[in-house]
Amino acid sequence: MKILFAASEVVPFAKTGGLADVAGALPKALVRRGCEVAVMLPKYRQVDVDRFKLGKIEGNISIPIGSRIVQGGLWMTELEEKVTVYFIQQDHYFDRDGLYVDSNNQDYPDNAERFGFFSRAVLEACKILGFKPDITHAHDWQTALIPVYLKALYKQDPWFDKTRTVFTIHNLGYQGIFNKYEIVKIGLGWEFFHHEKLEFYGDLNLLKGGIIYADILTTVSRKYAEEIQTPEFGHRLDGLLRTRKKDLYGVLNGIDYEEWHPSIDKFIAANYHVDDLSGKAICKSDLQREYKLPVRSEVALIGMITRLVEQKGIDLVADVLDKIMELDIQLVLLGTGDKWAHEFFQVAQARYPQKIGVALKYDNVLAHKIEAGADMFLMPSRYEPCGLNQMYSLAYGTVPIVRATGGLDDTVENFNPTTGQGTGFKFLRPTPEELLNAIYPAILNFYTNKTGWIKLMRNGMLKNFSWDVSAGEYIKLYERALEK
Ligand code: ADP
Repeated sequence: MKILFAASEVVPFAKTGGLADVAGALPKALVRRGCEVAVMLPKYRQVDVDRFKLGKIEGNISIPIGSRIVQGGLWMTELEEKVTVYFIQQDHYFDRDGLYVDSNNQDYPDNAERFGFFSRAVLEACKILGFKPDITHAHDWQTALIPVYLKALYKQDPWFDKTRTVFTIHNLGYQGIFNKYEIVKIGLGWEFFHHEKLEFYGDLNLLKGGIIYADILTTVSRKYAEEIQTPEFGHRLDGLLRTRKKDLYGVLNGIDYEEWHPSIDKFIAANYHVDDLSGKAICKSDLQREYKLPVRSEVALIGMITRLVEQKGIDLVADVLDKIMELDIQLVLLGTGDKWAHEFFQVAQARYPQKIGVALKYDNVLAHKIEAGADMFLMPSRYEPCGLNQMYSLAYGTVPIVRATGGLDDTVENFNPTTGQGTGFKFLRPTPEELLNAIYPAILNFYTNKTGWIKLMRNGMLKNFSWDVSAGEYIKLYERALEK
């Protein structure tokens, strides 16, 4: 099966969130199962041409943008696992500091145009490469126009007459909503500005296009696939999603164990595994030193790695902070995001310098150190399509405390101290009280039930969230799309 896998971020080239992890790992797993995969992403400034040995491919891509023709180029590299990665070059659009936002965290005003260009350029690139995809697998609003273009602009094009489309929603909260006049820049006529097409409360909604036009829709956990069909989680698209219910599937993301496993992790102070946890204590003291906290092996150390936004339940943590600071615990936070949260945690650190460590930055090495060094990992998301960090935590024997939503609910099982079953602590409603009701038993078990705690850690470490399982599910869905 030939798969065109188009995404706006791909590990190890460019990343702002979980999508990049998926787009880096899933193609490898698909190739291992015999698929031929061409991954495509924009050639951003942060893509390291020398390190990844990118080579330029002959030929130009020409895309109409409004009344202009915009030219682009094509680059490529091959990853060790026989995954071929192509980069769409268009320096005016992609040679910028950020992927989607400028240094003031403001969306680039031409994002519709940029990703409209990209979505059409990947289709044109297929022709330059002589690659006739059976499946195009697109992701999130940035590439949601691919299924739209295939059914609208390329309908008569024999190159794609056998191509079927799969569209994955990684986070329904980000829809790519733009002013309606942007429609002229993305190559679609005004007939597409219709409530059964891309019109959305007077604006243009690119994600909506993907939902309507793709043959098969997926999202990144079973629970989230159900949740997004309800008004509480549907971000005003739940009605539309219900109409596509029979084509909507939840496939849990895997994790890349080559990058995230305590037995081989290169970034942590000591390696360890399920049968010998001794290295974890070394990682803990290393983490405490890193955050300039008192080095205490016995204290309960809670880690958080997160975008500091409402989705992640940061406000809930803020609400309960004084309460949990009454306990004998340490809290280390790594994240960036909303200004109020930056200020709040800076103040909190100044108030509790012996107990709270704060790093307001993006730092992959530190993320690994937290997963390895913390005893518990806190993820109180209001909604969570899949979530990766709780799965990393399970792999590292770092007990997750999560809200029972989306992928968090699918991957974490409540701990039962009597039976020794379970992998973490969950709470249902996103309220400060319920959050506390999950933190308290976690802390209590940590201090008073040492054997139970080790069992709990091991239960998590023995879970398998490998991409091979998910890749198998995707291949079945690709086959289903081909039957359409
Ligand atoms: P989302 O994609 O919604 O941000 P996920 O849990 O699916 O959440 O994925 C987040 C990914 O980004 C994880 O790999 C996590 O380790 C990483 N990450 C998030 N914030 C930071 C940060 N400040 N520094 C390093 N890694 C981060």
